[in-house]
Amino acid sequence: MKIAIASGKGGTGKTIVSTSLALTVGNATYVDMDVEEPNGAIFVKPEISKEIRFTVPIPEFYEDKCIFCRKCEQACVYNAISIIPQAKKILFFEELCHNCGVCKYVCPVEQAIIEKPKSIGTIRIGEKEQLKFIDGILDVGIASAVPLISGMKSYIPDDEVVIIDSPPGASCPVVEVVKDSDFVLMVTEPTPFGLNDLEIALGIVKEMDKPHAIIVNKHESNNSLARDFAKERGEKIVMEIPFDRKIAENYAKGIPLAGNEYSEMFLKLIKNIREGNI
Ligand code: SF4
Ligand code: SF4
Repeated sequence: MKIAIASGKGGTGKTIVSTSLALTVGNATYVDMDVEEPNGAIFVKPEISKEIRFTVPIPEFYEDKCIFCRKCEQACVYNAISIIPQAKKILFFEELCHNCGVCKYVCPVEQAIIEKPKSIGTIRIGEKEQLKFIDGILDVGIASAVPLISGMKSYIPDDEVVIIDSPPGASCPVVEVVKDSDFVLMVTEPTPFGLNDLEIALGIVKEMDKPHAIIVNKHESNNSLARDFAKERGEKIVMEIPFDRKIAENYAKGIPLAGNEYSEMFLKLIKNIREGNI
């Protein structure tokens, strides 16, 4: 059972929810796929046993072999190649390349394009007692997080419970996480900004037909914005975490939600998700 913890907006409390949930379950795997800003390790405090440099294949063009037929340029849907036959020049815009391999596939000349590995980030593997830990750290300046997220999936063990901290937002990296998840917990804060971005992210989750539910962070008894939002759209709120100074102080020190109250709530939540009661 892969459970993704997502949120339309950054800073809603996704990481504290995912790490607290994982630490409470214990015998599980926690995967931090928020690769542009992974901070799950601050809460889990794992012992890292392995670091793997992750590479993607990137084309290298050889003008001395090229016949300037422009087939690669026409085939690249990301406009990463520009061929200038008159000047016998190949311009390659590496930042636009999505490593799909099509240019090499269509090139009629052997050795005009050779794929070379390019490092884009690091995958770390470790553990904290019974909890297995994996995170990904995207190198600075790498335009797309998707290849690293996709590459991390092969390191996820076949555990009964896998908790995945998704990137925030509602773009390709979130889709890459959600598409292989069995359930999505959407963390939001009860503010107009939070709910606006939640609505966008919910659109993705519904489009992919994924079972899902909402967790409201920073809940206050006199604020019914999130409850009204959920009621109007027929969505289910499965947990409300109070707007509490103590939680914020602990968060700043890297301390997850603790205590019997949260343990019981998280264990019940996991049980209900696994038994299909939500
Ligand atoms: S690998 Fe794909 S995206 Fe990159 S240059 Fe070739 S065709 Fe374009
Ligand atoms: S497909 Fe190959 S030969 Fe044709 S322009 Fe591109 S690199 Fe050159």
